Amino acid sequence: MKVRKKTLDVLHSDDLEQFLINMEIYENFKNEKILCNYCNVPINFDNVCALTFRKESIIFICDKESCHKTFLRLQKGEE
Ligand SMILES: [Zn+2]
Repeated sequence: MKVRKKTLDVLHSDDLEQFLINMEIYENFKNEKILCNYCNVPINFDNVCALTFRKESIIFICDKESCHKTFLRLQKGEE
């Protein structure tokens, strides 16, 4: 069995902001300390595409086409 992943595909910035506050990572997010899991660009409200949970951590994916494609492929389990 693979690690179970939950995904929020559609992120509205209001919801995202509240989510980040709840997860206590809002400060990191605002300070651009949260990076895309694939290309390491800082994630912000303009370029965030998706996020997923892996074990204890949250993984963010930017809106670059290559990152999004990689993300979708992994979601389908073709790892
Ligand atoms: Zn990226």
